[in-house]
Formats: sequence, structure tokens, C-alpha cells
Amino acid sequence: MDSQHQDSEITTGLKVNESCAVIGINGTGDVFTSILTGLRSLQHRGQENSGIATFNNNRISAVKVKGLVSEGFTRFLEENEPLPGNVGIGHNRYSTQGLKDVTGAGPFLISTMIGDMAISHNGEIANYDELREMLKEKGVPFTTKTDTEVMLNLLGIEIKQSGIKNGIRNAMEKMIGSYSAILMIQERMFAIRDPNGFKPLIIGKTKDSIIVASESCALDTLDAMILRDVEPGEVVEIKKDEIISLFTMKTNNVSHCMFEYVYFARPDSIIDGIEVYRSRINMGRELAKESPVDGDIVIPVPDSGRSQAYGFSLESKIIYDEGLFKNRYSERTFIMPEFQDRHTAVKIKLNPIKSVVDGKRVILVDDSIVRGTTMKKIISLIRDAGAKEVHVRIGSPKIVAPCYFGIDMKTRKELIGAEKTEDEIARDIGADSLKYLSIEGLAKSIGMSRKELCTGCLTGEYPVKVKGERLVGQARIID
Ligand code: AMP
Repeated sequence: MDSQHQDSEITTGLKVNESCAVIGINGTGDVFTSILTGLRSLQHRGQENSGIATFNNNRISAVKVKGLVSEGFTRFLEENEPLPGNVGIGHNRYSTQGLKDVTGAGPFLISTMIGDMAISHNGEIANYDELREMLKEKGVPFTTKTDTEVMLNLLGIEIKQSGIKNGIRNAMEKMIGSYSAILMIQERMFAIRDPNGFKPLIIGKTKDSIIVASESCALDTLDAMILRDVEPGEVVEIKKDEIISLFTMKTNNVSHCMFEYVYFARPDSIIDGIEVYRSRINMGRELAKESPVDGDIVIPVPDSGRSQAYGFSLESKIIYDEGLFKNRYSERTFIMPEFQDRHTAVKIKLNPIKSVVDGKRVILVDDSIVRGTTMKKIISLIRDAGAKEVHVRIGSPKIVAPCYFGIDMKTRKELIGAEKTEDEIARDIGADSLKYLSIEGLAKSIGMSRKELCTGCLTGEYPVKVKGERLVGQARIID
């Protein structure tokens, strides 16, 4: 279909969840505190609100708090006891509309004929509005506009009809999109990853529990040993001391989110066997090979461009220096709705170190450009501090189209790369030159083939069907 299509219904209609963090622990003692620790180490995946649900006394209870995990739960624990229970799940939410209330926060909870069910979900169900309509026709009432509520109700209905294994399989066949989820049905826990394997999900083990989490950094924090990733399309039951693979819905085409490696995941995490840090260093090295430039220093946009900048410096043998100070107490600028807010916020967040950049030909490296606001502001700050030239090198390819699978890039009109060439963007942001990494270079850096990655936002061709967008190949269920 013609990709002149507009921005998805998603932007105009209902709000769905974005990239988030999930964690689940099945253990022998109370798991609340360990889930809290895990959520803290997964904070980078979502800062709007977070929640924990545990099974105790024949039911699942949940607590949800606003803001950062440490702040929200410190407030909670000043007045309340930790939720008891040996089995539980947690969730950090990244919402893109600055929604500060916790109504749509995870974990989601429903009471059904088969008992209490709760889910923590990372990803985005692309066909959720159709599924929501279908469920509404069956009489399912909805209290929020999130895709997670749709997913949980769909699972509930299918499981009631066909039992756990077939019910989950039936629900997976109906859902199009990305989901790495942890489902609780009373005290039983299941890890579910979509057949494309868009989002990460990994299992680890301590001496008295099994943990499943979005990223391995949470397992490290909890002193857990990595067992393995949940495979694309796999459903695993998580018991206290063992994991049971229920089935794997195989497709002819996995498509891991490349942006996890570029930006989203923590560099110390290992996703699908690949260390994120190493892949970022490689991106910088490849970029230096593909688009060399004469310069005096390589400086990163902190913190997002650090590893790629270091890789660029290693390959080009041009010295790496920290030319921008980052105020660690500043707020997130990326989701600030007003341009003016973001503009001021970048200034609060970053300040050049004059002696590093003054009189220099600066090679400025970041991981990505989305709207271009941040880069434009930084270049003007560096020039004001005396830089002679500013050459921008970006450790990922040009983002030209929206993401429908959980990364916050929703509309073509907000993407500076959607219509413009590299040279036009360079002019817009005020750079002497601008180069992006190629898609081949990106795949090589990660260590996967191009076909194994979702590159929808880089090409406008998506691995699964999205209304109004072009489809590349087609993931067929082959098992
Ligand atoms: P922009 O000003 O929109 O071009 O933002 C680009 C900057 O935001 C880069 O430094 C990226 O590292 C960072 N970034 C990219 N994607 C995201 C995201 N989904 N959430 C938060 N920050 C992001």
C-alpha cells in the first residue's frame, strides 16, 4: 500500500503503551523487594509510572505509583507494608503523552472465571483497535485505552474457552505487533514473546527463584545467572525452580527491534546473545569507516552517543573527549510536548566545556536523530563555545517513518528525516556535514542479518501488517 499514508490511527485515536520494562519473579520467599530492585535497574525503559502485582491469599493484588520507581515506592513504603507473595510481576511504563496518572499503568489486573489474571507488557499491538472492537462486541468492558488491557482480556477469553496453552496460542494468532509479556493466572506465571521477537525478554535463575525480565541488566542486579532468552514466538511457564517451554510459534521471519541496540536498551545488557555495548562500539567503528571526516576531536552527545563516539574515535584514531557536560538532575527532554520546553530543557541539560571545543573541528556523535531538535540546539551551543567546524555523525540510519511496535516515533511530520535529505538536514540543524550509518553497517555492527531486524522506521516497510503501510516479506507462522 502507498506509504503516503498518514500517521497511524494510533496517533489520532486511542493511546497505547510504548516501550516499557517488565519483570516477573517466582520464588520461595516474598518477591516484592526483588521486583522493586529489578524495576530500578530497568528504569531507563520507562519513567512515567510503575507497578507491582503479587499473588497472595488466593488473589492477585497490585500497587501502582507515579514517577520514578525509587521515588514512587519510597512514598508507598512510608505508609504501607510491601505486598506479600512468592510470585509477582512488575512494570515500568514509558508513556509518550506525559500521562502522569496511573490508570493505564501496569501491571494490568482482571478478575475472571478462571481466577485473577495480571499482565506486564512491553510493546505495542498494532491491530489493537480492531481487537478492542471485537471484544467490546462480546461485552467486554474497558476501563482504559491501552493495548495491554485489550491483550489481557483477549487472553482471558481465549484461555477460558480453550485452556491455557491453546488459549494463549489462539490469542497470539490474533495479535499483530510487538509483545514481550509476563502473564499471571493466579499463582502461575507465563513469559510470552511475539513470533517476530521485536522486544527482548530474558530468563535468569538465583538459588531460590526464577526471574524473567526485559533485559539482562536486571538479572545482574539481582545476582541471577542468565539461563536464556525467551525465543521469538515462545511461551514459557516460569516455576519456582524450573522453566517449561509450552510451545514456540515459529515464523519464517524474526525481526528484532534495531533501536534496542541503537538506543533503548542499557549497554550492559545482552539481548538475544548480543552485548548491546559491543554493538554500539561497532556502530561507531562502521560509521568512521563509511563516513570519515577530518576533525580534531570526537565528542559524544551524553549519554546516548557515548559508545558510538568511542567506537568512531577508536577506528578513526581521532582523540575522544567529553565536550559537553550533562546535568544529571535534568528531566527527560525527549517527550516534552512543547517545542519551547524542549528547547530550554536542552540548555538546562547540556553545557559545552569551552576549553575542549574552542577553535576545534568537532566531530559530534549521537546515536540517532528523531526530530532534530536536540542536535540543532547542541550544535549552536558548541559553535557559541568557539568550535570552528561541527561535523555530525549518527550511529544509526536515518529515521524516515513511524514506529508501530513500541518506540516513541509516531508521526512522519515530526520526523526530520521523513522528507529531507542528509544535506538538507545538515543545513537545518546547522552542521558543516552530516552522515548516518547505513542499514547494512547497522546490521553488521549488531551481528545480525538485515532480514533479522525490524527496520520499519528506517525504510517505511514493516515486517507485519500495519494499516496503510507497506509490508516487507511476510512473517508466516510455520509451526
Ligand atoms: P530529537 O531531538 O527528537 O532528534 O531527539 C534525539 C535524541 O533523543 C537523541 O539524543 C536520542 O538519543 C534520543 N532519543 C531517541 N529516541 C528516543 C526515545 N524513544 N526516548 C527518549 N529519547 C530518545
